[in-house]
Amino acid sequence: MSSSTAMSKPEEFDVIVIGGGPAGATAATDLARAGHSVLMLERAFRIKPCGGAIPPRLIEDYNIPQELLVAKVTSARMVSPKEQKVDMPVGDTYVGMVDREVFDPWLRQRAVDAGSTQRIGSFKQLRRRDDGRVEVGFTDKENGGELTTVIGRTVIGADGANSQIAKNYVPGGDQKKCVLAYHEIVRSPVGSAGGCFDRNRADVWYQGNLSPDFYAWVFPHGETTSIGVGSEMKGFSAPDSVKALRREVNLECAETLRREGAPIPLKPLKRWDDGANIVLAGDAAGVVAPASGEGIYYAMYGGELAAEAVKEFLVSGDVRALANARRRFMKEHGRVFWILGIMQKFWYSSDKRRERFVSMCKDPDVQYLTWQAYTQKKLVRAKPAAHARIFVKDVAHLLGLARV
Ligand SMILES: Cc1cc2nc3c(=O)[nH]c(=O)nc-3n(C[C@H](O)[C@H](O)[C@H](O)COP(=O)(O)OP(=O)(O)OC[C@H]3O[C@@H](n4cnc5c(N)ncnc54)[C@H](O)[C@@H]3O)c2cc1C
Repeated sequence: MSSSTAMSKPEEFDVIVIGGGPAGATAATDLARAGHSVLMLERAFRIKPCGGAIPPRLIEDYNIPQELLVAKVTSARMVSPKEQKVDMPVGDTYVGMVDREVFDPWLRQRAVDAGSTQRIGSFKQLRRRDDGRVEVGFTDKENGGELTTVIGRTVIGADGANSQIAKNYVPGGDQKKCVLAYHEIVRSPVGSAGGCFDRNRADVWYQGNLSPDFYAWVFPHGETTSIGVGSEMKGFSAPDSVKALRREVNLECAETLRREGAPIPLKPLKRWDDGANIVLAGDAAGVVAPASGEGIYYAMYGGELAAEAVKEFLVSGDVRALANARRRFMKEHGRVFWILGIMQKFWYSSDKRRERFVSMCKDPDVQYLTWQAYTQKKLVRAKPAAHARIFVKDVAHLLGLARV
């Protein structure tokens, strides 16, 4: 039972984290470990729709135990509009697959073990107080849905792509552009579905009829498989597209366990803080990599940076510290996001370009640098010759000088 009802004195915390997904749970863990009092509020009303692909860098940096990985993908197959299939082996590492049904509660439990207080309930309102702190109201599920108020010195808005905190309390936070992603979770086939399916391979389909501006995928998760698609286009029917893809990969008759969709933000917001006591993290801040739609790693890193900025603010009382979260994130990943944004706009805009894009993926240099960038989250400087070769080939493809 909650101790703070409408009648009793509200509980007080250094930090109130709204949302216990990868961003919020990471921030709550770090802050609690640093000795701060933390409330993590999570409505926990559904499993987050997600392909669940995570890079080794995430597994290492955030100490994710191997037992949370339901599959290890060792290659990706890119499929072009003309059905050209290009396999890209990951090399001596792998892409981990997690089920968010298990992954998210595990992350939240780690935050609780570190000392955070967890409340299951839905954020409703935020009021700024004269003493510089904020009052947060939420419907407390453990208290019969009663509106409960708590007081915090700071708030981390980690409440996902539809963030109420971003929309209502951070300037420009209502300007988010999103891709709508939809997937169906099916039971994985026992065999290879007539050669179409491999438990260790992620398939990425670049075809305008499946997605006019993004891509469609088949991601194996051990006993289950995620088959999905993203698009920003209005009027585009994601369920029809997934139906077509399922037919294509002989998984039409596989048992469907869930059908679900959610927005993926396309671009980091210009501001992540309100200049007073709120800072955003993860999807709430708009940080999902363009072109790939990868968001879990960036959400956890954003949560870590939000926690760091809040720690600085709590020590110094200087609100400018909150802006450090975005500044540090963009310094580390801004360039890659910018490049991926251009890639998405250019290569995903017509089937002719998609065909060229998939052709480019045959190149060993492209494969090497793509996997290094994805798995390690760094541009490899050790191989300048590979960068130069790719630059030349990329320009040749852009100008249509290279053969498909
Ligand atoms: C279909 C699909 C497939 C994807 N596939 C991949 C993939 O394979 N790999 C990858 O890296 N990324 C993928 N992404 C993106 C990834 O899921 C997100 O970027 C990531 O989950 C962001 O984490 P987050 O913590 O910022 O937000 P979320 O995971 O959305 O967590 C936000 C949390 O806040 C809670 N919350 C929201 N509102 C309230 C409220 N009012 N009160 C209390 N709690 C609230 C929610 O319940 C949720 O738990 C995919 C996304 C979609 C939609």
